[in-house]
Amino acid sequence: MAYDFDLYVIGAGSGGVRAARFAAGFGAKVAVAESRYLGGTCVNVGCVPKKLLVYGAHFAEDFEQASGFGWSLDEAQFDWATLIANKDREINRLNGIYRNLLVNGGVTLHEGHAMIVDPHTVEINGERHSAKHILIATGGWPQIPQIPGHEHAISSNQAFFLKELPKRVLVVGGGYIAVEFAGIFHGLGAKTTLLYRGELFLRGFDGSVRKHLQEELTKRGMDLQFNADIERLDKQADGSLKVTLKDGRHLEADCVFYATGRRPMLDNLGLENTGVKLDKKGFVEVDEQYQTAEPSILALGDVIGRVQLTPVALAEGMAVARRLFKPEQYRPVDYKMIPTAVFSLPNIGTVGLTEEEARDAGHDVVIFESRFRPMKLTLTECQERTLMKLVVDAKTDKVLGCHMVGPEAGEIVQGLAIALKAGATKRHFDETIGVHPTAAEEFVTMRTPVAG
Ligand code: FAD
Ligand code: NDP
Repeated sequence: MAYDFDLYVIGAGSGGVRAARFAAGFGAKVAVAESRYLGGTCVNVGCVPKKLLVYGAHFAEDFEQASGFGWSLDEAQFDWATLIANKDREINRLNGIYRNLLVNGGVTLHEGHAMIVDPHTVEINGERHSAKHILIATGGWPQIPQIPGHEHAISSNQAFFLKELPKRVLVVGGGYIAVEFAGIFHGLGAKTTLLYRGELFLRGFDGSVRKHLQEELTKRGMDLQFNADIERLDKQADGSLKVTLKDGRHLEADCVFYATGRRPMLDNLGLENTGVKLDKKGFVEVDEQYQTAEPSILALGDVIGRVQLTPVALAEGMAVARRLFKPEQYRPVDYKMIPTAVFSLPNIGTVGLTEEEARDAGHDVVIFESRFRPMKLTLTECQERTLMKLVVDAKTDKVLGCHMVGPEAGEIVQGLAIALKAGATKRHFDETIGVHPTAAEEFVTMRTPVAG
């Protein structure tokens, strides 16, 4: 049967755009549907605008530290509206680049909400298009627990467009988004509380990293409230929010920001017209080749709930395009050793196993740790300390994990990830000459284990 398209992609986010462009590049006839914004979450309400706000927040400490180097400034002023307007301008520019990438790459762009009407047909803007393969790349959406008063809370989607910087912000959650946005608000001058339901935030990260960040954020004056959960939110006459905690305490804030995870975006997608199955958490179930239970339909990225990171969605998009249209170049995505950063202030950078994961997996481990005051801070009053940690397998000498909390941790760990991927041993690290004077050289000069 002749179809209108070889591949119909729903969602022009990180994974969808990558799959569409590569497939078209391999000669396939491809369409992509986008209902909201070109570039998806990462470009519009995720990685990119977040990083711009993190840069904005970072200036606070740069101004503070500058005096140690002889600079004097009148009191620094910050204008939220300018930052948001400039951020919006940059995102508009990126939206245009994404449009050109698709159109110039030979992909047909349909702007509107797409719905699957049968396993080979998508309906959009009242028109139906048939396709040999349909790819669901619809991403995710913030999930806010339905506590009384939840409608007064915002999510990351709104945080990027606030009209003004709230004076008092309460961030709920202990994952990437909560920690990053607490840093943004605190850095920009809001009185910030980070409230997390568990013992210590960033579950799943290395224990030393979590404790170190807790200490550093406390030093900076951020209010960290762990083992705390919200029972209800009430709007008060002056517009502020009264926050009632489950332990009976009350807090007040001008903005309550929930960052409590993301659900798959499947709204009105028409999955009931297909044999696509969902997993226990409600994400689209796929096999190792991103095939759903419906033979003509594939899915990737945040909607499959594996690893919700842009570079992973990109890798999955490339794998799908190659498997369908360039099988001789197909390589499965390797989910091991995925490096990642949390753009908190200071940053976390990490790759490989945490100490806890390594021990649980039965490795006999040797731990190397270094904590130091970065050289840049020695002329300043700032007492921030950097943490670097290596988890090494005692038997094979292989470096199983690298973890860092400190300036540019993400930048540093990207390079180390290549070494770990190539199977580097501690001896390789020891035989590598450092770049002096840098913080990164500490990773190749750690000689004495702190624990075995
Ligand atoms: P998305 O990028 O979400 O794209 C899905 C697209 O599908 C959207 O544009 C949506 O409008 C569209 N769509 C949905 N339904 C339909 C429909 N029915 N019809 C038509 N179009 C539809 N990752 C990192 O690696 N680094 C970071 O620093 C980082 N920071 C983040 C910060 C925040 C605040 C958030 C929320 C996420 C962040 N992420 C980060 C995660 C990253 O954004 C996602 O992993 C990535 O965007 C997933 O890509 P995707 O293609 O699966 O989905
Ligand atoms: P995460 O899954 O990372 O964190 C969710 C947090 O909310 C956890 O601390 C969780 O606690 C807590 N939580 C969940 N449900 C509730 C509830 N009902 N009440 C109170 N707390 C709750 O999600 P995020 O929203 O932070 O981010 C989504 C994903 O986006 C991330 O996992 C990451 O993959 C990606 N991302 C990546 C970034 C980066 O690369 N720098 C930046 C931002 C996002 P608990 O741990 O106890 O379950």
